[in-house]
Amino acid sequence: MYQGSCLCGSVTFTARGAARDPAACHCSQCRKQSGHFWAAMQVPDADLSVTGEVRWYAATPAARRGFCPTCGSFLFWKGHDDPDTGIALGALDGPTGLTLARHIFVADKGDYYEIHGGVPQEEQET
Ligand SMILES: [Zn+2]
Ligand SMILES: [Zn+2]
Repeated sequence: MYQGSCLCGSVTFTARGAARDPAACHCSQCRKQSGHFWAAMQVPDADLSVTGEVRWYAATPAARRGFCPTCGSFLFWKGHDDPDTGIALGALDGPTGLTLARHIFVADKGDYYEIHGGVPQEEQET
């Protein structure tokens, strides 16, 4: 069970079940929206409950991005026809017990940082 919220607390969420594929995305869209790279885990929609108003923005037809309309926290990523929702790891409350499994879209990462450590890196996403 995971609990989280946006910065102002208007949006809260609970995710049941096991977190899948905690990953950091370095694509330019996630960097623009978050201000750096963005890390998320995947949760089946049936295991996710959200309270509060979420505003969605589709940067491409492939996916939409959910954020709090009050404080702007980037909370969710939802692929078109995807049964899962990506949930921002940074929005989770308390210790998560999670470890990043991979970095994706590293070909698009900013030039002002390096990715250190042994976590696998993927140029795009597989
Ligand atoms: Zn908020
Ligand atoms: Zn991304």
